[in-house]
Amino acid sequence: MNEIHPKFEDKFDTVVKCPYCGHIQDDEVTYDLMDGDTVECENCGKKFWVNVYIEYLTTPDCELNHEKHEWVLYDKEHNIYMCKKCGQTEVRYDV
Ligand SMILES: [Zn+2]
Ligand SMILES: [Zn+2]
Repeated sequence: MNEIHPKFEDKFDTVVKCPYCGHIQDDEVTYDLMDGDTVECENCGKKFWVNVYIEYLTTPDCELNHEKHEWVLYDKEHNIYMCKKCGQTEVRYDV
């Protein structure tokens, strides 16, 4: 039998939950967590591993870099302009 016990399946959560007693750890404990850290449960005192997965989304912006946007009309119907350098959009009402 090579079935994995459901208890040990990978389960992702937005909180750090003790795999022994289910206690959700305080923000103070989880704030600095790095992938592969161990945590000692505040409730039952057992230690367990934590894997941290964080997603990042990055977007460029000319203004951030003190450059001028190069606006092109992107959606004529709604007057939406898009910068062809960074992809930021802007709606213009005063045209
Ligand atoms: Zn616990
Ligand atoms: Zn731009």
